[in-house]
Amino acid sequence: MTKSLDIKENIEDLRQRLPSGVKLVAVSKFHPSSAIEEAYAAGQRCFAESRPQELFRKIGELEGKCPEIEWQFIGHLQTNKLKLVLPYVSLVQSVDSVKLLLEIDRWGKAAGKTTDILLEMHIAGEDSKQGFFEEEALELLFNAGKYANIRFRGLMGMASNVDDEEIVLSDFRRIADFKDYVCDLFPELEAFDILSIGMSGDWPLALQAGSNMVRIGSAIFGERS
Ligand SMILES: *Cc1c(COP(=O)(O)O)cnc(C)c1O
Repeated sequence: MTKSLDIKENIEDLRQRLPSGVKLVAVSKFHPSSAIEEAYAAGQRCFAESRPQELFRKIGELEGKCPEIEWQFIGHLQTNKLKLVLPYVSLVQSVDSVKLLLEIDRWGKAAGKTTDILLEMHIAGEDSKQGFFEEEALELLFNAGKYANIRFRGLMGMASNVDDEEIVLSDFRRIADFKDYVCDLFPELEAFDILSIGMSGDWPLALQAGSNMVRIGSAIFGERS
């Protein structure tokens, strides 16, 4: 019982501290569906998962229990797993290759669904290979019109995994500046309005840089096992 109290308290605490224009995405990966139900009961509606099978399983487990739930996807998405994810999510935050973009577009054409996506940006200095470099993102956005079944909604990024707040803040600012640059350069991308930066350990810094979407897992649900 103390656990449910924690989830509820954590959500209420975050809600008080986040400005109204910032969307809270509860990252429920590795936590059981019962934890999602607790967060839902506390008023949380938007949840994100990072593994296709886990998302698909939880959707089944929660069927009929959380009618207003909104799912997002934030993990690496292999093109052979699209069917487990795309029909169910409002946003794929983690598009990290042109190949994935093409496959999502193709799936959307067949399924008759336009998919909202964020481009996941590579942070200079991080050893992670995921995400686009800025030049790559610009190049594909020049051709945004060819992805008829995709709506480009903005950028997602993670800061370098370091304690130095100045480095974290400058990583976030770089993504924020790049988003502004993209919006100026491509005014035709009318829905390009999401800047998804900030996690449990660094969201206050992300807010300083202009985040309007934070992805928070452990600060809501506790440590992942
Ligand atoms: C797991 C994960 C999060 C949440 O991380 P916490 O530190 O638990 O808040 C956010 N974004 C992505 C992409 C993740 O994979």
